[in-house]
Amino acid sequence: DGGGPLPQEQLQALDQALEKVRSDIRGTLDHARQRKDNQEEAIFAAHLALLEDPALLDAARQSIAQGRAATHAWSDAIGEQCEILLQLGNALLAERTNDLRDLQQRVLRALLGEAWHYQLPAGAIVAAHELTPSDLLQLSEQGAVGLCMAAGGATSHVAILARGKGLPCLVALGSELVDVPQGQQVVLNADQGRLELTPDSARIEQVRQSHLLRQQRREQQQQQAQLPARTLDGQAIEVAANVASSQEAQGAHANGADGVGLLRTEFLFVDRHTAPDEQEQRQAYQAVLDAMGDKAVIIRTIDVGGDKQLDYLPLPVEANPVLGLRGIRLAQARPELLDQQLRALLQVSPLQRCRILLPMVSELDELLHIRERIDCLCAELGIGQRPELGVMIEVPAAALLAEQLAEYADFLSIGTNDLSQYTLAMDRDHAGLAARVDALHPALLRLIAQTCAGAARHGRWVGVCGALASDPLATPVLVGLGVSELSVSPPQVGEIKERVRQLDAAECQRLSHDLLNLSSASAVRHACHQHWPLS
Ligand code: PEP
Ligand code: MG
Repeated sequence: DGGGPLPQEQLQALDQALEKVRSDIRGTLDHARQRKDNQEEAIFAAHLALLEDPALLDAARQSIAQGRAATHAWSDAIGEQCEILLQLGNALLAERTNDLRDLQQRVLRALLGEAWHYQLPAGAIVAAHELTPSDLLQLSEQGAVGLCMAAGGATSHVAILARGKGLPCLVALGSELVDVPQGQQVVLNADQGRLELTPDSARIEQVRQSHLLRQQRREQQQQQAQLPARTLDGQAIEVAANVASSQEAQGAHANGADGVGLLRTEFLFVDRHTAPDEQEQRQAYQAVLDAMGDKAVIIRTIDVGGDKQLDYLPLPVEANPVLGLRGIRLAQARPELLDQQLRALLQVSPLQRCRILLPMVSELDELLHIRERIDCLCAELGIGQRPELGVMIEVPAAALLAEQLAEYADFLSIGTNDLSQYTLAMDRDHAGLAARVDALHPALLRLIAQTCAGAARHGRWVGVCGALASDPLATPVLVGLGVSELSVSPPQVGEIKERVRQLDAAECQRLSHDLLNLSSASAVRHACHQHWPLS
């Protein structure tokens, strides 16, 4: 023969390269899950699925069987899939070709035994024709401070990942971008979507100064973060933190959190082959309590099911996982699992510092049932006093029934992530809808107001543990509607406390109720900027 590549060897090489990339992606997935980065997880889970797509693999294998090298076969197979997507004439689908190109490059590198390698100077802004999701992870790890692309779309996965990492990223700047010489000083203004290619020295100095000011302000916030936050007229607002492990709790405590407002216990249950036993769970919860000094810790019972499947907990495949057996509904499917978790929780000490929170409650019976179970378990364990028991308000039904729930719950905690999803009927991780899944929508504000009013009738307090609590633009609105605890991402404790200290609670109350009559989230945001400018 002509000495062409041997199909058998090429097939094997391709399989090995695919397996290498799959295993790298699995590593990324584990990491994303630990950080509860749903978007990153969803994006790379989709990459993994693409790498198992029979149409793609068959095309590559067939072309190898016809005598082509693995590199060409893989490259062409991806190229064909990209063509198909582009021909559909749908902008969203066309953006998915970026993901395919990512896999094209990754598998090629694995076949050629090359590593991803670019050495970045500190503080670099990276300009490229188009970057892929895996490029972004590498660049972010290497300390890039901004990204610019000649091509790309605002809803591409790489743009979503950049937003998630707080990395300024401009897309679709046009092909001139790649002609900018390396090492040139530029100013990337992501707020205004501008890349300034020829800033003069005065402009650069101005940008330096504003960076410096921001840094100083951050240091001031950190200094004040350990103190409690009160509004100008003396209303105390607790600023707690959302965490998923005892390490994160330590970080939250160091950042000045007044407590843990939400411990997502799923971290203990996912990515393993057997369930953690009672002892292991008790130790994990105790470690979080220990990390928080004398502060209270709100521990949410396991919120899996739906799209978060556990290997050892086979639940039926569901057509609509987010509307299925998830959260507290697990008590109906696997009551022993919840009992075990409650038993572990009841054995932490001091138990008074532990509050239990139930996810995805949609009717009073769910709360009453768990309350009874807890009372039974307390009796078995010889515990005199049931710990405080709270309900998450993340389903519109729960917000509408807040008054009934508050009669039997010790507190309510609003999960604005799911509450937005279920109120607006928009997938919280949907790339194309990301800008519209906004918890400042007046419909959500009405549900939040109703929740606070219902709780107040029974003298209960209301917290917010969804992402809205970490948005400083929303702080005055939430305070005004009657929320008294905000559970935020740990690095933002100082910033939100500072925001609280600048507010007049009585004025917040007056102004925020008017927002309920506005017609859109953007109108609410606009009004918030007017009433309570972000400094
Ligand atoms: C929420 O839904 O707002 C929430 C805090 O819970 P999670 O994000 O874990 O679903
Ligand atoms: Mg939720």
